[in-house]
Amino acid sequence: MAQIRVHQLHKAFAEFTAVENSSFTVRDGEFFCLLGPSGCGKTTTLRMIAGLELPTSGQVFLGDEDVSFKRASARDIAFCFQMFALYPHMNVRQNMGFSLVAQGVPKTEIKRRVEEAAAILRITGLLNSSVSGLSSGDRQRVALGRAIVRQPMAFLMDEPLGALDAEFREVMCHELRALHDRLGATTVVVTHDQTEAMSMADTIAIMNRGAIEQLGAPMEVYERPASVFVADFIGSPAMNFLPFDAALSKGADAVQIGPARVAVPALRQDVAPSALLLGVRPEHVQLAADSALRAEVLGTEYLGNSQVVTLTTLSGVTLRAKVDADAPVSRGDHVGLHFDVAAVSLFDQASGRALQTARDDAVLPSAPRSKFTAARAQHG
Ligand code: ATP
Repeated sequence: MAQIRVHQLHKAFAEFTAVENSSFTVRDGEFFCLLGPSGCGKTTTLRMIAGLELPTSGQVFLGDEDVSFKRASARDIAFCFQMFALYPHMNVRQNMGFSLVAQGVPKTEIKRRVEEAAAILRITGLLNSSVSGLSSGDRQRVALGRAIVRQPMAFLMDEPLGALDAEFREVMCHELRALHDRLGATTVVVTHDQTEAMSMADTIAIMNRGAIEQLGAPMEVYERPASVFVADFIGSPAMNFLPFDAALSKGADAVQIGPARVAVPALRQDVAPSALLLGVRPEHVQLAADSALRAEVLGTEYLGNSQVVTLTTLSGVTLRAKVDADAPVSRGDHVGLHFDVAAVSLFDQASGRALQTARDDAVLPSAPRSKFTAARAQHG
């Protein structure tokens, strides 16, 4: 397995910039997700790593080798697409071994590798079955098996769970991560689903309009979003934003929003007069009778172990609060709002960049190398 390094990678289609000077490193054995909305350049980035698209400028390194202009077939990488097109006239065993036959690998070695991959994927019993009758989950496993048997230096996957229904996606999310941990493979996955990226990745690159907005571990991008875009994209329900104008001095520990004085973590810098946004996640909003920041309840959504309350402030800003399932609150109630001070972030409205994020000075635990194994260990 190998490290993948992308340096100032740029791709333009005529006048349109699809990927803008991206640089990042996927460490050897890391599970890395390219995450962002449709059209932000994720697939184009992955295709340039795979060699299926040539960069306009910039470089791709696989290990120490500059492979920027090497053909896809000359790169030791396996690529899995969203639409796992299996050969319908071949059975599972033949589908999995097909690329090895094409490479001229001896029959006994193909048999060994296919059976080993099938055991890892728990589809040994399906090896002689036709692929046409398989469930979407099993088809996905066969597609992964085709990649595994090649024993590549890295796996690249474009929306590998995209064709699965919601329930099965969650199962396959765990399986994909567990598979990664078992193989110790360098893996790059493209997804537009933040929950998927948050649950699988060691590192996430969040892309917006061709550029990487932030690179970090799931906890890092959740707790310390570098921009309004990231804060809004990661987390469900999304972060709340309250606009206000202010000039702030270093050390200030409150801001004026309408009639309310709202506590914030002490400012680490002066902020020139500007339009700002206070950001706070729904789980850090409490309904408090004594607060000067007033809002009306528009509705509640019962989630079993909590409820999401949608509110509108006097100035018409919509907010969401995640509160206890049994909190006595209903549509039309007038309530006060209180925020967990330590969890409040501030953003510059014009640039969208974070001025100060929650827990900026706390040391966040780095993502465990093996998330799945760590979770399993925790649960005994
Ligand atoms: P999606 O999840 O919808 O595929 P994405 O983030 O993977 O989105 P890309 O497929 O990388 O996005 O596309 C980025 C942008 O580049 C899009 O606006 C797309 O229309 C454009 N694009 C991609 N390939 C080409 C091409 N061959 N010619 C022209 N434009 C292209």
